[in-house]
Amino acid sequence: MLSLGPLRAASLISECMYCRKARVLAVNPLKGHFCLQKNYSTLPDDVKSLRTIITPVVSKIRNIGIMAHIDAGKTTTTERMLYYSGYTRTLGDVDDGDTVTDFMAQERERGITIQSAAVTFDWKGYRINLIDTPGHVDFTVEVERSLRVLDGAVAVFDASAGVEAQSLTVWRQADKHHIPRICFLNKMDKNGASFTHAVESIKEKLKTKPLLLQLPIGEAKSFRGIVDVITKEQVIWKAAAALDDGKIFERKPLKETDDLVLLRDASDARNTLIEQVADLDDEFAELVLGEFSESFDSLPAEKLHSAVRRVTLARKAVPVFCGSALKNKGVQPLLDAISMYLPAPDECHYDFMKWYKDDLCALAFKVLHDKQRGPLVFLRIYSGIMKPQSAVYNINKNCVERMSRLLLPFADQQIEISSLTAGNIALTVGLKQSATGDTIVSSKASAMAAARQAGRDVGSKRGRSSGVENFLLAGIEVPEPVFFCTIEPSSMARQPDLDRALTCLQREDPSLKVKIDADTGQTILCGMGELHIEIIHDRIKREYGLDTYLGPLQIAYRETIQNSVQAQDTLDRSIGEKRHQVTAQIGVRPWEGDTSATVPVIEYAENICDSIQPDLREAIENGVHTSYLQGPCLGFPLQDVVVTVNAVATNSDTSLTMVSACVSRCMQKALKRADKQVLEPVMNLEITVSDHHLGAVLGDLAQRRGSIREIQSRPDDKVVLASVPLAEMMGYSTVLRSLTSGSATFTLEFASYQVMSPHEQTALLQKKSGLA
Ligand code: GDP
Ligand code: MG
Repeated sequence: MLSLGPLRAASLISECMYCRKARVLAVNPLKGHFCLQKNYSTLPDDVKSLRTIITPVVSKIRNIGIMAHIDAGKTTTTERMLYYSGYTRTLGDVDDGDTVTDFMAQERERGITIQSAAVTFDWKGYRINLIDTPGHVDFTVEVERSLRVLDGAVAVFDASAGVEAQSLTVWRQADKHHIPRICFLNKMDKNGASFTHAVESIKEKLKTKPLLLQLPIGEAKSFRGIVDVITKEQVIWKAAAALDDGKIFERKPLKETDDLVLLRDASDARNTLIEQVADLDDEFAELVLGEFSESFDSLPAEKLHSAVRRVTLARKAVPVFCGSALKNKGVQPLLDAISMYLPAPDECHYDFMKWYKDDLCALAFKVLHDKQRGPLVFLRIYSGIMKPQSAVYNINKNCVERMSRLLLPFADQQIEISSLTAGNIALTVGLKQSATGDTIVSSKASAMAAARQAGRDVGSKRGRSSGVENFLLAGIEVPEPVFFCTIEPSSMARQPDLDRALTCLQREDPSLKVKIDADTGQTILCGMGELHIEIIHDRIKREYGLDTYLGPLQIAYRETIQNSVQAQDTLDRSIGEKRHQVTAQIGVRPWEGDTSATVPVIEYAENICDSIQPDLREAIENGVHTSYLQGPCLGFPLQDVVVTVNAVATNSDTSLTMVSACVSRCMQKALKRADKQVLEPVMNLEITVSDHHLGAVLGDLAQRRGSIREIQSRPDDKVVLASVPLAEMMGYSTVLRSLTSGSATFTLEFASYQVMSPHEQTALLQKKSGLA
C-alpha cells in the first residue's frame, strides 16, 4: 500500500481529478495522482516508486489478449491476474458485477465484454498489457483491431465444454494475424470438466498441436493443483484458514513417495513433450539426439523452456495450461507462462515499422469519452517515444493535435507518466480529432520522410510508387456498414444532445456511420449488424441519458443505371428584383471502371470545359453530388454512374444555389428515364462444417440465393466459401446452429454491391412501396 506518511488522510478525501469520484487522494512528489479507493490501491506492494513503473525494457513487455467464448471465464481470469500481481485489493466477481475490466455498465449487466479495454500490470519484472478482446461476431472489427495491437494471446476455454464455436472464429482470426498463442483450460473445478476431452477438442477443432505443459491434479470437485510437466513439480493450492484467495500454494518436486500414478503420468507427459518439441525444432532435436539420447531425465528445464518458446513463437504448436480462475487455482503459473512463452514487441514484425525507424508511430485502437476529460485515446506505440504536453500528427485526419497528458491504463484507473517507449500501450488525454484506427506520428515531416522511404522500398519491389500511404498506416480497414435504421430523440429539443452523443460514439467506433436523410431530415444510424445497432442504442441511453426510438432495421441498398440518357431542365424564378434563369443539359451513363465508383465521375463536354469559372463549376458539382445520394428507384445512394455536363446557361443575376438546384433536378430527370437497377450488398460467407452436416448446409444456402465458390477439405471438416446476399442472411446463426447441432461456425464479411435479378428487384420494389 502506498504510504500516506504524515499526511492527514481526512484532509485528502476529495474529488479525484481523473475519475471525479470522491476518493482518498495521495499526491506523489513525482506528480503522480492516485485514487485510493477502497478496493484498489493503484500501486502494488513491491512497486516502491513511480520510476520503477515507467521504464520497462522492451524485451520484458508482453502485449497480450485474452480470447474466449462468452462465459469461458475471461473476465474472472483477468481479475485474478490483477489480484495476484497486486493491483487490486479484493477479488472482483463477474457474478456480482464488480470486476475492473468490464467497466461499462452494460457489460456488467450483460456479463459480456463488448469493449476492449487495456489493463497494465507487472508480473515478476515483466510488464503485461492485457488487451481484452470482445467475443461476439458483430464486433469482428473490434476483435480485428485488438488483434492488431497485441503480440500474443491466451485462449481461455471452459474445460467442461472444450472448444466452442465463438472461440473457433476468434482463433481463425488470430491465425490470419499470425498471433502466437497459449491455451488455458479454465473451470477445471466444474462438474464435467475433462482435461483429456478439452485437449482432444483443441487438437481436432483448432487443428493445432497442443503441448501439455501441465497436468491437472484431480478433476471437477477434487481439482486441487497441477503438475508442471517440464520440471516434474507439483503445485498445490492450500486453502488458508480465513481467506481462500489462492495466494498461497506449494511447489515441490514429485517424488516416488507421493502419488505413483501421477509421477508416472508426469514422466510420460514429459517424454511425449520432448519428442513433440524435437519434431518441431531442429536445434532442440540436435540436443536431444546428441547429449541426451540415452535418457531425457537429465535434460535441463531451461533448454526445454526455450525450445517450447521457439515453437510457440513460430506458431508450430500451442502450450496448454489448466486451472480454475473462480477457485483461485492455476493463475500464477499462467502468468509465468505468459512471460515465458509469448513474444515481446520487438520479436514481432510489422510492415510499416521499418519506414519510421526511431520516429514515433502509434495506432489509436480505442477511444473512450470521459465526461470531464473529453476523449481518452488508447494508443499502441510501435516505434519512438511518446511524451505528454507534445504535438503529434494524425495521418488519417491530416491534422496536428496536442496531447496534454499521458497515462498508464489500469482498467478504470490511470496513472500519469512522463514518457512511454515503443511496445507499450498508452492512454492519452487531449487528442480531440483522433478516432479509433488512426495512425499517430510525431510530425507531418516525419510522415513524409517515412512515405519517401516506403516509396523507395515498395516502388522498387513492385515497380510503382502509388498507394504508398496505405503502408504507413497501422490501422485496419473498416468494412462498409450494411444495416441502417432511423433514430429519433424523445423530443425535438433533445436532437442536439443526440447529435453530440453520436459524434462521440462514432469516434469510438469507426464501423458506426451516421447520416441525415435528405428528404425527411431524420438521423440514420448505419452499422454492422443487429446487435451492433442495439448496443449503440443502449449506450445512448445509459451513457448520455437519452431516450431514443429506433426505426426498423433495413439493408443498405445502392442504385445504378444500365444505359446512357440525356436530359435538359430549366429553372426560372424571380426572387425580389432578380430573375434567376438557368438551363442545364446533363447526360448520365454507366461507369465501366475496374473499381466501383461510390462518388460521381463528372465529365464536361469539350466545348464548355474551359469556359466554366471555378465557382460555377463548384455549384454544378454540388448539384451532381446531391443527386448522387438519392437514386431514382428507392432513394438509395448511386454507384457507378458517369455524369456528363453538356451545357449550363445562366443569366447575370442567377445565384449559384439556383445552379446547383437546376443541375440536381436535371440529373434526377435523366436518372428517372434510364434503365434503373438496384444493387444489393453481397457477403463473403465462410462456413466450417463437418462432412456429416455439409449436405444440409449446402441445401440451405441454395435457398438463400447463395453461390458456392469453393469447398475446401480439411482432415475432418469442410470449409465452404460462398457469396450470399445480405438480405438472405438475417438470423442465419440460429439456422446454422439448428442445422448442424451447433457444430459449424461461420464468418460473414461484406464483399461488394451486386446487381439484383429483375425478379428480386421487382419483389423488393413492391415490398418497399407497400404493395407486397
Ligand atoms: P467471460 O464471459 O469469458 O468474461 O466469463 P466470466 O469471467 O464472466 O465468467 C462466466 C461465468 O463462469 C461466471 O459465472 C463465472 O463465475 C464462471 N466462472 C469463471 N471461471 C470459472 C471457474 O474456473 N470455474 C467455475 N466453476 N466457474 C467459473
Ligand atoms: Mg467478460
